[in-house]
Amino acid sequence: MYLSIWLGILMGSSGCSSTEKKPDELAEVRQAALATPDPVILDNPLAKRMNNPSTMPTVPPAGAKIGYSQVNITEKVVAMTFDDGPHPTLTPKLLDILKARNIKCTFFVIGRSAKTYPNIIRRMIAEGHEVANHTWTHASLTSRSDAQIRTELQQSEDALVAAANYRPHLIRPPYGAINTRIKQLMFSEFGYSTIMWSVDPQDWRRPGVSVVTSRLVNGAHPGAIMLAHDIHPPTIEAMPAMFDQLLAKGYQFVTVSQLLNMEKANMPVGVVIRPAMAVDDKDPTPLPQ
Ligand SMILES: [Zn+2]
Repeated sequence: MYLSIWLGILMGSSGCSSTEKKPDELAEVRQAALATPDPVILDNPLAKRMNNPSTMPTVPPAGAKIGYSQVNITEKVVAMTFDDGPHPTLTPKLLDILKARNIKCTFFVIGRSAKTYPNIIRRMIAEGHEVANHTWTHASLTSRSDAQIRTELQQSEDALVAAANYRPHLIRPPYGAINTRIKQLMFSEFGYSTIMWSVDPQDWRRPGVSVVTSRLVNGAHPGAIMLAHDIHPPTIEAMPAMFDQLLAKGYQFVTVSQLLNMEKANMPVGVVIRPAMAVDDKDPTPLPQ
């Protein structure tokens, strides 16, 4: 049956391009085609199967979830993420700490800061870190129009392309203010997966260096996405002990994309995750602004 339909479509359209035929003549051509299928096609067993792209998934491809707050792995591997930079002095200091340990992290940078400090962005990229979008002005996306959201994302992306010819594919919404609809908009229009976190030391409240260290060390778990901010001096001070204690416990640090790839690598071939299942977390309660 499929073959008949396909032949009908083929003959209908090709017949039309060579000579102008009236609709009833086209119907006759289709009838003739159905009566005498092309022997070349019938000789080719593969051609008997109709190629029909409309049956293909229009949702994110296998493994391309649109939102993550952690990944489902058993290995002691985590992704450390830093938001709200780059900061002109603290971020380079952090990069030194990371370099000394060969640790790669993910930086969710504010676009206008990236434009101000492009050299820091270039250094992040050159040293193997991942850079991702945290909007242009640190905007709360749930209180913006779609047009404003697009501008926030695009300006920030443009700043990264201008600084380092680097196009991000992850976004973290400022304040954690997000909903499923906006996640889907950002995925379909920008190709961004939305990255939340599973470990939050609340370092922006400046609870003290040792508290930030211990909250991250105690909170770490296989597949964790851990949050901190590279614009607070105590946070930077807390990092060496945090990294060293987790390394001593056998943890490895990777970028967020590397962590996501570990989960994808564990998936059976052909698994397709639809957006409705892909949003693995309920919409979170935003942080205070
Ligand atoms: Zn932020």
